[in-house]
Amino acid sequence: PFGYVGIEAVLDQMRRKAMKTGFEFNIMVVGQSGLGKSTLVNTLFKSKVSRKSCTPNYEEKIPKTVNLQSISHVIEEKGVKMKLTVIDTPGFGDQINNENCWEPIVKYINEQYEKYLKEELNINRKRRIPDTRVHCCVYFLPPTGHWLRPLDVEFMKRLGKTVSIVPVIAKADTLTMEERMEFKQRIRNDLQAHGIRVYPQKEYDEDAEDRIMNDKIREKIPFAVVGTDKEHQVNGNKVLGRKTKWGIIEVENVAHCEFANLRDLLIRSHLQDLKDVTHNIHYETYRVRRLNESNA
Ligand code: GDP
Ligand code: MG
Repeated sequence: PFGYVGIEAVLDQMRRKAMKTGFEFNIMVVGQSGLGKSTLVNTLFKSKVSRKSCTPNYEEKIPKTVNLQSISHVIEEKGVKMKLTVIDTPGFGDQINNENCWEPIVKYINEQYEKYLKEELNINRKRRIPDTRVHCCVYFLPPTGHWLRPLDVEFMKRLGKTVSIVPVIAKADTLTMEERMEFKQRIRNDLQAHGIRVYPQKEYDEDAEDRIMNDKIREKIPFAVVGTDKEHQVNGNKVLGRKTKWGIIEVENVAHCEFANLRDLLIRSHLQDLKDVTHNIHYETYRVRRLNESNA
């Protein structure tokens, strides 16, 4: 009969292998302080990604982030383990002079590439190199409703050369739907005008199918997100939301904001692609540069 190669069996092997080894996925949040980065990290862990597998205790008020700080949870689904790490950053804009405020972030990203490279070059190299590389950087834009600020332009330009960036509009509940739409369009124009590369990049679409799927995402970028650390009762269900005088903004409800779109992009539909782009493009660029340096 047909089915010579036995693709089913191959897929099964791949799945079993993934089950044994598990994998790591690292996200970083970046942006000015006070934009809700730490809150969104909590939202992500509290949202449906992980509700079953871990119950983080985040009832306390979120303190101001003062150091680069990573939070990991092992998420297990159908026997496969994923170690999801989010690197929270202190945010910038606190100083009068924000010059070079991207340096600690870029340094951190490069240090992880360097660690990986060292392991790869090691004679007794591990069968599986621990992967601390940043697979995606979520960049928070303030909900001004205006344009990209020079600082954001400068920051993202630099960042875009070393890591995949997904820009988001922070605290989107402070904008009306109309303002959101206009602001999103303006940001997309600005990103293009400044040559800022954001994920998913057109150049890396592999085929027509990729293009169609990614075009849908590109149309929505930057996602207008809302974060929270509280749950509320809505029609007898517990939902993550922000309670206001006018009602509850449901964070995971796509009619209210695009948090769910962001989450799905990161840890559902594009997780493997983000890992591939990190390894094949960003890490590769780093590796080639470093090896050239040491040969010079
Ligand atoms: P970070 O400095 O970027 O980490 O910001 P935090 O997560 O510490 O949040 C700063 C403040 O903004 C806190 O008072 C949060 O409750 C509030 N906040 C966080 N996310 C949102 C949001 O989506 N909408 C609104 N309106 N406020 C938010
Ligand atoms: Mg913070």
